[in-house]
Amino acid sequence: MEEESLLEEDAEPPGGRTCIEQQEPGRETAAEDRGVPVFPAVHQARFPVESSSREKAFRKHFFPHTNQKEWKDWQWQMRNRVCDLRSLERVIVLSDDEREAFQNASASLPLAITPYLLSLIDPSDPLQPLRRTVVPTIQEQTRKWGEENDPLNEDDHSPVPAIVHRYPDRVLFLVSEFCSSYCRYCTRSRRVGRAEKGGGTVDRWKQGIAYIAAHPEIRDVLLSGGDPLTLSDDKLEWLLGSLRGIPHLEMIRIGTKVPAVMPMRITSDLVKMLRRFHPLWMSIHMTHPDELTESTARACERLADAGIPLGSQTVLLAGINDDVETMKRLFQGLLTMRVKPYYLYQCDPIPGSSHFRTPVARGIEIIRGLRGFTSGYAAPSYVIDAPAGGGKIPLLPDYVVGREDGYLLLRNYEGRLFRYPDMQDGES
Ligand code: SF4
Repeated sequence: MEEESLLEEDAEPPGGRTCIEQQEPGRETAAEDRGVPVFPAVHQARFPVESSSREKAFRKHFFPHTNQKEWKDWQWQMRNRVCDLRSLERVIVLSDDEREAFQNASASLPLAITPYLLSLIDPSDPLQPLRRTVVPTIQEQTRKWGEENDPLNEDDHSPVPAIVHRYPDRVLFLVSEFCSSYCRYCTRSRRVGRAEKGGGTVDRWKQGIAYIAAHPEIRDVLLSGGDPLTLSDDKLEWLLGSLRGIPHLEMIRIGTKVPAVMPMRITSDLVKMLRRFHPLWMSIHMTHPDELTESTARACERLADAGIPLGSQTVLLAGINDDVETMKRLFQGLLTMRVKPYYLYQCDPIPGSSHFRTPVARGIEIIRGLRGFTSGYAAPSYVIDAPAGGGKIPLLPDYVVGREDGYLLLRNYEGRLFRYPDMQDGES
């Protein structure tokens, strides 16, 4: 069956749509005649939209024999990922730090970038935020103190190969070790993009499903990896159907970066299939406002229209998104795409991550700059996933200043002090 395309060649951008009756100046409409107010048409973009003309120009220049239909086919995107130095050099001018990364890359996370994502990358600026997230540099090969291959100690909480069981009522199900593009700061860089270990995927899935079925305390499963949305519809459907057959499993979540790096994967067939497995939630990995393109907006729209609640997960990255203005643009833009900013993560100390990590104080400063200054929905929870498997620990600015005469002393977002009469247990 032919997929309905994600974005028609001449499709009007979402921000350009008019849902309110348009009116020529000076002419009254039938609605106004009836006394119904008519509002002027709204034409502003609802989010920072990157024009799809950039994608088209990129395709025509670097893939001149590829038409728009092929470009919008996610399997074409997968087949044409850039995975080696020679292909990358065809598209961008490498800096010395980037070129050196390839000289001793055998131990590193592999390189893979979808053509779509490459079209968003600045070919001449090695410091462009999106470029830094996917193009390796020599800094990755320097291991600093405190860095670990498995900083969250997931392997020690893994009763069967595909499952990480750290919290009492929920598990992580690692369904694949494959992603369409590899993030240089990936927490699971020890596994993703490498050969499968411990048997084929289906055997591992069966073991994982059996483990969940045998543990009635598990009510929530997060499918992650790797990226579950790089699986075919058939495989994903089989997996979701098997999980839905477990009576005590209340909800299924999918963690993915696909809407940001290969939005054409969100086909109408995929969402038709996904909506059969509700309650199904999705956590989308988003890093920077440059990812908020028209194509990503359409992908999120499809998922949200299928009734899938969308949340985002963002890793705090030095020089990429570690300032209030960038985060505000990202989180406010996500809300316009019906994605609730869910978690802001302190970057995990994987080997070679020191150039990505910020002081924790920077994250707290960002949360302080968001709370009260933008919609509460736009402020995610800032967490450290504690080393050695301690789980997520939330971090907040100090809004509670102390106590005085039964009052709690609080500081608001503007720095002003307030007193709240805080009754103690047993007081009336
Ligand atoms: S998409 Fe997720 S799993 Fe894949 S490389 Fe990026 S962070 Fe890692």
